[in-house]
Amino acid sequence: MRVTGLDLDHGAVTAVHTDHGTIGCEQLVVAAGPWVRDLWAMLDLPERIDVTGRDGVVHRDRPMWTYLPLQEGTLGFDPHTFRTTDGAMPPVVHVDSDQPLHDEDGRLVTDAMWGVYYKPDFAFGGVQGGAAPLPVPRPVADVAIDPYGPASPEFTVGADFVRMWTAALAHCHERFVGAARHYRDVPSGGIGAFTPDSFPVFDTFHGGSAYVIADSNHGFKMLGVGELVAGELLGERSAQLEPFRFARCHTGELHPVSNSPFPWS
Ligand SMILES: Cc1cc2nc3c(=O)[nH]c(=O)nc-3n(C[C@H](O)[C@H](O)[C@H](O)COP(=O)(O)OP(=O)(O)OC[C@H]3O[C@@H](n4cnc5c(N)ncnc54)[C@H](O)[C@@H]3O)c2cc1C
Repeated sequence: MRVTGLDLDHGAVTAVHTDHGTIGCEQLVVAAGPWVRDLWAMLDLPERIDVTGRDGVVHRDRPMWTYLPLQEGTLGFDPHTFRTTDGAMPPVVHVDSDQPLHDEDGRLVTDAMWGVYYKPDFAFGGVQGGAAPLPVPRPVADVAIDPYGPASPEFTVGADFVRMWTAALAHCHERFVGAARHYRDVPSGGIGAFTPDSFPVFDTFHGGSAYVIADSNHGFKMLGVGELVAGELLGERSAQLEPFRFARCHTGELHPVSNSPFPWS
């Protein structure tokens, strides 16, 4: 069932329009992942905002949402061989580096800061991971979210990602030197909707009638959020969710920006 619109009455959400009819409601919870842009607009919330930095400087008229295509792929490399010395599953390895990166032919890929992550993955049947996401060179309103993920002809990874990611794997582990030819050439990737400081927004709007869960692509790190949000919907106030209120964009209590090329670290 697709939500197509909302009724706002005297500042409160009173009904949800769907392609299967209209449903009256007292409390709406929005958890729409990268589609949050559209639900945000239905809530009549601003598409552009003034953002106060941690240094107090106000950045006028910034986009509320920024789309970044995630760059991910798989190397066809037996995942069983990529374990810790005692045979256990390793953690996801995340490497950020300022060292010049060269491809297998010795050509410079980049001498700017780069970053990759990777892990053995039995579902993908190889070593799966990614690199820092890219900007989308067009206004947020014009970004086509659907078809989503690997079905998108626009936001699946290309040759530049494959060259960079495989070069980075070889840079990090000798066993991956010369392994670029094992890259699985299948559509991979997908876009995420990021907030102004690339951290989640968990907050109520319209007098508490709408609760928005916008995880800014933080994924599994947010697994406990459902329970905390459920508590807030029942009237508790979660201290853990406080740093993620929308008001931080105006007060300047933004989350810190790291030197990493990744927006989520
Ligand atoms: C390529 C890629 C790889 C990723 N890899 C990882 C990873 O390895 N680990 C990790 O932790 N995270 C990963 N993430 C991030 C993770 O997928 C998201 O952070 C997470 O899915 C967000 O969960 P969510 O429930 O908020 O939204 P979603 O999982 O996106 O769910 C939103 C739901 O809302 C529905 N919806 C949207 N609009 C409407 C509407 N109008 N009406 C009705 N329903 C609607 C959608 O159909 C969807 O089912 C990855 C993201 C991408 C793009």
